[in-house]
Amino acid sequence: MTQTPDVGRRSLLRGAGGIVLGGGLVVAGASAAHAATSQNGWPASSSPSAIGITGLTVSGHTFPAGVRGGQVHTVLGYVARRFHSEVEALANPGCWGYNYRVISGSTSFSNHASGTAIDCNAPRHPLGASGTFSSAQVSRIRSILSYCNGVVRWGGDYSGRKDEMHFEINVRPGDSRIAPLVAKIGGSTPPPTTTWSTVKSGATGFRVTAIQHLLRARGQSLTVDGVFGAVTVSKVKAFQTSRGLLADGVVGPKTWAALIITVKSGSSGQAVVAAQKALTARGYTLTADGIFGATTASKAKAFQASRGLLADGIVGSATWAKLTI
Ligand SMILES: [Zn+2]
Repeated sequence: MTQTPDVGRRSLLRGAGGIVLGGGLVVAGASAAHAATSQNGWPASSSPSAIGITGLTVSGHTFPAGVRGGQVHTVLGYVARRFHSEVEALANPGCWGYNYRVISGSTSFSNHASGTAIDCNAPRHPLGASGTFSSAQVSRIRSILSYCNGVVRWGGDYSGRKDEMHFEINVRPGDSRIAPLVAKIGGSTPPPTTTWSTVKSGATGFRVTAIQHLLRARGQSLTVDGVFGAVTVSKVKAFQTSRGLLADGVVGPKTWAALIITVKSGSSGQAVVAAQKALTARGYTLTADGIFGATTASKAKAFQASRGLLADGIVGSATWAKLTI
């Protein structure tokens, strides 16, 4: 849609088939890389396992080094299968997936860096070439894209330099069109599962700090020291009793779910302090002033994007769970 992504893809593709990492590519430092997202807003990482990259094979043709697992895998796998059966038989080498790369001359990550793009039969459809598919093939590609309802974009549709081998996820994580498409394809749509850490007596650190601030927000009186000692145990028990939960003094999934408070732009108080300190502990450094302003919103969104959550800046259950896991 713009020139910039096309320039990025151009540099990307030079390396996609090989192991080129030169060309002045600069990967940001650890904390920035931690927060990195590719152009479409999906988390990018140099560690394939950190973002759930899994293998993609279609009719015996492998896409090194795979694509992001889950819904992305279902969608891109669908595109690749239909491409293979309706447009053109896939051939190796020339089919590529995940590739951790920044765009030359920029610190932005290609969509291949998040495992949300594939290239099909690169040698037949070289970067920059147009008209590498017949009109009949293009109409079949259009049919695939139409089925995908805007979730997938074809590099042949770039306004600038064409990239006809390239298909990519064109919506951000959590976009409302993804789940219905996955369901339509027939892929598994795992229910959103929220995983919480279990924090109890003897624990120290940012999770305990968050619990203590949240207890204060819930009306319990205690000092925030990041140490899960006797006082914290008793306050957790008091809170659990007030909610009809088993009063064991252990903060597990049920207690977390009852304890957290959704905070967003305009929120203030102890729960906001808890969120700000947790974001800081996760590398999204903030002043913990208890006021959920624009900076807190932007850090929250960056954190959410890094974890594959809907980046709406609203710290609710799913975001709290990721912050404290
Ligand atoms: Zn590509």
